[in-house]
Amino acid sequence: MITRGNIGQMSLDKFVNEVSGIYSEQDKARPIWDIWLHANHHAAAIGEEARKYKPGGQLFKEIADFAMWLFTFVGRMYEFDKSSSYPFGIQERVIHTEKKLTFAEIIWNKYPGVCPVCFWRHAENSKKNVNIRCDCVLYEVEKRDQSEEREHLNKLREYAEKCFVSVPKNVDSWQKMFRDIFEANLRHIDLKDIAFHLLEEVGEVSDAIARMYTYSKTNFEKGEPYWRKTRLENEIADVMSWMFTLINHLEIIPEIAREFYKYSIEDEEEELPNYPILLSGIIWSRYGDKRRNGLYCPHGCDATVCKCPIVLIDTKAKIDELKRY
Ligand SMILES: [Zn+2]
Ligand SMILES: [Zn+2]
Repeated sequence: MITRGNIGQMSLDKFVNEVSGIYSEQDKARPIWDIWLHANHHAAAIGEEARKYKPGGQLFKEIADFAMWLFTFVGRMYEFDKSSSYPFGIQERVIHTEKKLTFAEIIWNKYPGVCPVCFWRHAENSKKNVNIRCDCVLYEVEKRDQSEEREHLNKLREYAEKCFVSVPKNVDSWQKMFRDIFEANLRHIDLKDIAFHLLEEVGEVSDAIARMYTYSKTNFEKGEPYWRKTRLENEIADVMSWMFTLINHLEIIPEIAREFYKYSIEDEEEELPNYPILLSGIIWSRYGDKRRNGLYCPHGCDATVCKCPIVLIDTKAKIDELKRY
């Protein structure tokens, strides 16, 4: 049973599975690039809403849809469905994580309760403890070469492993963790900047995907695929970080908070509620079914596992047959 009251209490991995599960049947016939293109176009639509500064219901729908496709992508990346009838090629099959990491581990490895840039700066400059609050606004952006970057990631992952007991236990506490780390920045950057940054990270995931099957003759060597996988995992963590930061920023703008209540309202009679703006609530308002206490497809079929009459052109279709359309 999933309700507005308990959806945010789900573990991140359960949440990711439940949300992407709505389209699990149809997704079997989708190549991974198709899934990523859908995530992309919803990310771009978040950018459009931010550019026009129309932070109403459409922005929240786009955030919900973007998250849904992102979770679907991640599910595909770490669990390749062997029962699928789709003839996945080898370039697609190498797009996966190093070992069976949970989604929570992917994010914690890059954001173990601290800003990764602050972590590196403090580890470099002194031996002092890592501060939970990011103070990056006070410093210039540092340039690092590849070996420093990799050393940084190794240290960060060691630290993440050491303090894994502190990993947030549910979706809402993940959002709170990102708010605690980046709180100082929320008032310094505006909605457009944050949306821009989210799009930048989405583009970096696209690049990391392509690098999983594109090498140069000098770097296609033992060990390199490991770093490529690590990069893809980290870029996905960055996307989550900016998505949560975007939502946390929306919370501090009063007129947006009001739009969110309108978006969240479940029947006309209801008074405007006073919900905090959380990813879990944004998803519930789009995909939650109050009557059946679960998630469902809002695009017409109304089913808990979507049965909308979508036609994806069969990969075995002949081009001559398609001409009659
Ligand atoms: Zn920082
Ligand atoms: Zn449907």
